Amino acid sequence: MSSAYLQCIEEACGHRQEKDAVACADCGGLLELVCEFDPFDPDGMRRIWHQRRLSGEPIDRSGVWRFRELLPFVRPGERIVSLSEGSTPLVGTRRAGWWAGPVHLTIKHQGNNPTGSFKDLGMTACITRAASKGVRIVACASTGNTSSSMAAYAGRAGLRAVLFVPYKQISSAKLAQALDFGALVLEVGDTFDQAFCLLREVAPSLGMYLVNSVNPFRIEGQKTIVAELMEQRAWRPPDFIVVPGGNLGNASAIGKGLRELKEFGFIEKVPRVVVVQAAGANPFYRTLTAQSPDLIPVENPSTEATAIRIGRPANWKKARRVLEWTNGMCESVTDEEIFEAKRVLAEDGVGCEPASAATVAGVRKLVRSGKIERHADVVAILTGHQLKDTEYVMRHRPPSEEDRQRLRVEPTLGAVREALTRHL
Ligand SMILES: *Cc1c(COP(=O)(O)O)cnc(C)c1O
Repeated sequence: MSSAYLQCIEEACGHRQEKDAVACADCGGLLELVCEFDPFDPDGMRRIWHQRRLSGEPIDRSGVWRFRELLPFVRPGERIVSLSEGSTPLVGTRRAGWWAGPVHLTIKHQGNNPTGSFKDLGMTACITRAASKGVRIVACASTGNTSSSMAAYAGRAGLRAVLFVPYKQISSAKLAQALDFGALVLEVGDTFDQAFCLLREVAPSLGMYLVNSVNPFRIEGQKTIVAELMEQRAWRPPDFIVVPGGNLGNASAIGKGLRELKEFGFIEKVPRVVVVQAAGANPFYRTLTAQSPDLIPVENPSTEATAIRIGRPANWKKARRVLEWTNGMCESVTDEEIFEAKRVLAEDGVGCEPASAATVAGVRKLVRSGKIERHADVVAILTGHQLKDTEYVMRHRPPSEEDRQRLRVEPTLGAVREALTRHL
């Protein structure tokens, strides 16, 4: 039987931990789930995973649990809290790949998840774990998408959901989702970092189980994206996998997934992981550029890409390790560059929220500076759905009298005809 245990990632510590937690009881470092797998037969396993796609069983339809052999913390027969997450499309681009490179750019669209972001992959794993441990209340601090996701999965598992979000800093669509799913929402502080810090202080004494991405089980769920991606590509790894970086859980998860797939012979080559941050919220970029051993935080993170407006990314050490393992890179892009990238993606018929478009803006910058070769095989992970932040889109429209795409027309045939002849 495969098995798993929690261990501190700090080399000087390495403490093994029995009880679920979000930090090492000895040194306060990050914990990770160390998986000890039975020997895999990669070909046999790939066939089983593939065959499950034809199955009608909910556990097989989920793009996370279809790969359950990679998640050895769940015992056979245990209750899985799933909404059929994952199994998201991989779509080619024409204009975006041309604009950003030219590179061979494909999009793995995680916005096509039950609550509209990649957070669902981590949440199904984490809430399944919480429920199996008899947890009653789950909590998170969030820039929005973790809230929507947690609220949905907690509701499904019959758990109470408590959310800490910065006041007036998350999109109304994300807030609406969380409320709709019945969560208790505390609007507290001006930044994610402040809300998160407060939550970490109060959670233990109130018996709240934290499901932020410092929870190692979130990372486990999210790592399955690389198995799904490789399967969709017939197990041919791309040259680069590009993700936006906020709290850096996703980059950490992708790295862990790649490492396990390589170790067990599922892939020959490891793609280079690229993290892209917004220029106003780029602590990881600053830290790596300065080669600083300590995080260089951004005290007042600012970007319109609210999902990545984070000044003290909790998972930065895990993400740094991933860039080391994969010979990866970090880039920083302005809000204008994000806007341009989002517009070009839209020309390909691909919608996403601003944070997701940072990936494509980052690729363009890295091609321009020669760090990504032209015609490279690049997969951009688009993390959230277009409808997550429609306020952003509307804010960027020209004033209505100048908007040539949006016409207010008198309801007469003459006016309609005139408007069309003038603007078509
Ligand atoms: C959470 C989120 C991110 C950032 O992911 P991290 O794991 O925190 O780095 C990026 N984009 C979207 C849409 C998100 O919801």
